[in-house]
Order: sequence, then structure tokens, then C-alpha cells
Amino acid sequence: MTAQVIDGKAFAAEVRGKVAEHVARLKEKHDLVPGLAVVLVGEDPASQVYVRSKGKQTTEVGMKSVEHKLDADTSEADLLALIDQLNNDDSINGILVQLPLPKHLDEDLVINSIDPAKDVDGFHISNVGLLGTGQKSMVPCTPLGCLMMLREHHGSLSGMNAVVIGRSNIVGKPMAQLLLGDSCTVTIAHSRTKDLAEVVRRADIVVAAVGRPEMVPGDWIKEGATVIDVGINRIEKDDGKTKLVGDVDYASCAERAGAITPVPGGVGPMTIACLLANTLTATCRANGLEEPKGLTA
Ligand code: NDP
Repeated sequence: MTAQVIDGKAFAAEVRGKVAEHVARLKEKHDLVPGLAVVLVGEDPASQVYVRSKGKQTTEVGMKSVEHKLDADTSEADLLALIDQLNNDDSINGILVQLPLPKHLDEDLVINSIDPAKDVDGFHISNVGLLGTGQKSMVPCTPLGCLMMLREHHGSLSGMNAVVIGRSNIVGKPMAQLLLGDSCTVTIAHSRTKDLAEVVRRADIVVAAVGRPEMVPGDWIKEGATVIDVGINRIEKDDGKTKLVGDVDYASCAERAGAITPVPGGVGPMTIACLLANTLTATCRANGLEEPKGLTA
């Protein structure tokens, strides 16, 4: 079998298109412009690229984008004061603090100081609890993007065996909650899992979120399974240049899978699209308006 490629780039463009339509309608009918504030502390090069890209895509869908770039030695008190100001700013509907933060800042404290209704990353402890109990929440962007692609491909996920490799708070755990919410039978694997190959071989859906280049070989994949590759790993090629690869060995997995996301061009583009979708959802909720369909969990 040769897998169908799930084109995350094209799907993300579709999601952004839907968001842009809703944003235009909000402006026309309610004179509302959703606002997204991104806070970057320090000069981590990868974070700078992400923040630029987020800002650009935010304005492209017609939203207001605000960037706060703070020095690497910014004090916790100053960062918390900025978040408090954004929490109380009615023109800001979404707040994202780019992670990782410099070591002297308490990430949990900072994230939990964001108004949960504006927590478009879905990392606030209240949103984690709401998601875990099946209530309306802000859903972390990367797992939301994976869920949207799975729903688009399969329709219903009910009764499918799903294996999530990785148990991080930002990808693995919320991904498992979302799959459970869609009535999958979910296994979460991690570095202590025994006989990972056998666990993965039972899966109708494999979500790999490990951070180890090409760790999952094709012979772990059940014939016809759907493989969602969250990993983004930069490796050096024979010619000394670098390239991005995922957590699964794409060539061998694509031979056995029914469908697979490529890296790049799979989960990555969906993450920012879902950030924009979350900002729109937060805006609608804050103003008592109907939420856009198909853009939340
Ligand atoms: P973390 O490092 O926080 O978590 C990695 C998880 O993988 C841990 O739970 C760890 O287990 C598990 N793990 C490590 N080694 C093994 C192993 N040999 N076998 C089984 N499980 C293992 O990573 P993230 O969740 O933050 O990110 C995962 C990947 O996804 C990275 O490549 C990252 O770059 C990418 N990513 C991509 C995004 C996108 O937009 N596409 C967004 C976010 C992340 P344990 O808990 O036991 O240590």
C-alpha cells in the first residue's frame, strides 16, 4: 500500500480562509476586530521565526497583531505586569507567551497568569482541566490541528485504536484527551513504554510526538493505519546541508500506512492556523456570539 499524503499545508490554508471569512463578518456585523498579542522574551532564533510567522498570518486573516519583544533579562514582575495589562485590554482577545522562557522565569506561573478566556495556546491549568473533563475550553493548537486533519480524513474516529507516542503537556497529553473525546481507545506511550513496536502495531491511528528523528520505522505500522507525525527535527545530510524530518521514517511508514502527514508540510502549518482559529473562537465567546463551526474541538 502507498499512503495517501495528508496535505497539512493545503488544509491549513483552508482553515485560514474560513477564519478570514468569519473575521470579515465580525467586522461588518459587529465592528469587531479580533486581537492577538504575542509576547517574546529573549532572542531565541527559532522563537523569533515563529513569532514573525504568527504575526504575518494574523494580519493576513484580518486580525490585529500585537508583538511585545522583551529583553532576555526581563524580571518576572515586569512580565506579569504586561500580562495583566493584556488581560485587561478589551482589544486583545488572545495572548500567547512564546515558550521556552529564559530559565529565571517560572513558566507555569507565567502561563497561569493569563486570563484563561484569552489563553489561545490552551496551556492554562483551567483549560487543561476543562479539556480533561470534556468541557468547553481553549484547546492547544498542535493537537487541535492533528484532530482536525484526522476528522477531515476519517469523518468519525469512534472506536478506533489510537496510540500517541509522547506525553508532553503541550502535545501528547492534550492529543490523547482529544482522541478520547472523539471516542477512540487511546494508549499513551513514552520513554518507559515496554515493547513500543507491539503497542504501535495495534494502532489504527499513530500520533508521533517524540522529538527523535525518524524513530518510528515502517514495520511498526499496521497496514492501512493513519500516521500523524508531529516531530520537527533538523538533521545533517551527507552533503553537510541540513533538512527537516519528523519522528517517523517517512519512506518506510508511507509504504504501509493508509494515510500519512509529511514533514515539513503536515502538522506544522496547522499549528498556526489553529492559533488563529482559537483567537477567533475566544473573540466570539468574549462577545457572546455564536462560535464558528469546525474550528474548535
Ligand atoms: P517533549 O520533549 O516535551 O516530549 C517528548 C515525549 O517523547 C516525552 O513524553 C518522552 O517520554 C517521549 N519519548 C522520548 N523518547 C522516547 C522513546 N525512545 N520512546 C518513546 N517515547 C519517547 O516534546 P514535545 O511534545 O514538546 O515535542 C515533540 C516533537 O514535536 C518535537 O519534535 C517537537 O519539535 C515537535 N513539535 C511540533 C510542533 C508543530 O507545530 N508541528 C509543536 C510542538 C512540538 P518521557 O515523558 O518518558 O520522557
